[in-house]
Amino acid sequence: MTRAERPNSLQKLGYRIETFPVVKIRATCPQCDQDVELTSVDVTALVCADTGDGSYAFRCPECEIAVSVDADMRIDDLLVDRGVKKRIWTMPAELAEHHTGPKLSYDDLLDLHFVLQRDGWFSELEAMTVSAMVPTTELTGFLATHDGRHDDVTAVAERFKVSPWIAGRALGLAREHLEAAE
Ligand SMILES: [Zn+2]
Repeated sequence: MTRAERPNSLQKLGYRIETFPVVKIRATCPQCDQDVELTSVDVTALVCADTGDGSYAFRCPECEIAVSVDADMRIDDLLVDRGVKKRIWTMPAELAEHHTGPKLSYDDLLDLHFVLQRDGWFSELEAMTVSAMVPTTELTGFLATHDGRHDDVTAVAERFKVSPWIAGRALGLAREHLEAAE
């Protein structure tokens, strides 16, 4: 009697053993270009709720990088039929945000890196952000024509199209700037 024919202890006790064949999925890793063999547990079928686009993701057994491959919805459905779990994802909300100003450059990123290494990085970063949104010279010009009311957060918020919080911080920076100049 071979090992396969020998009933195991569960079968002797009358339990029926059901074995599921392991489904092999072949894919090409977009990172290292190797053809790899995966099983259904290694793969996740992905559907983007915003665009309806399909893809599948896995960690490449060759280069160990987590990769995703664009796929037709039919491929996704086929994978799900073979026991692959399906995950529906949504685009990050930040994509819907309205952005103005120049794009972040490598130099900006390097500057940020150095700022983060200094003590007081938060107030430095805050001052940079606020003065980019409400340039101090423009603000002092605006205040000069605005009946000299240097605490009108609402007017500053409206003029520069920023939140009252940013307007308040900008007014604080302008005050510090004026005091430093005196
Ligand atoms: Zn790879």
